[in-house]
Amino acid sequence: MFCPKCGAQLQYGVSVCPVCNARLNTATVLNDSNGTAVAAFVMALLSIAFPILTVPAIVCGHLGLAHSRKVMGQTGQGLAVAALVIGYLTVALWLLFLLCVAGGCAALVAMSQQAQ
Ligand SMILES: [Zn+2]
Repeated sequence: MFCPKCGAQLQYGVSVCPVCNARLNTATVLNDSNGTAVAAFVMALLSIAFPILTVPAIVCGHLGLAHSRKVMGQTGQGLAVAALVIGYLTVALWLLFLLCVAGGCAALVAMSQQAQ
């Protein structure tokens, strides 16, 4: 993140700018940047049970990541990345699951046809 007063690059979590001594409102910074990332992370976790949420989770993850890169530096990036990883993993797992179900159904149909 950057100092809003002098533009100096700041370490994550500092409350006073070491260059110009400006007080930094880290609470608003955190809230602003983390909104999308937190939402993405929560939806990514829920998507394991509710696969329909993977799409908004991935979309929010990308938005949160872009936002944290553009505006806030490091803040919220970890959560956004975690949301994207979980989101894409969930998509992969559900695709695998559906393939197994489809394969199992095909095998059952083939077996029942053989039995007749
Ligand atoms: Zn400053």
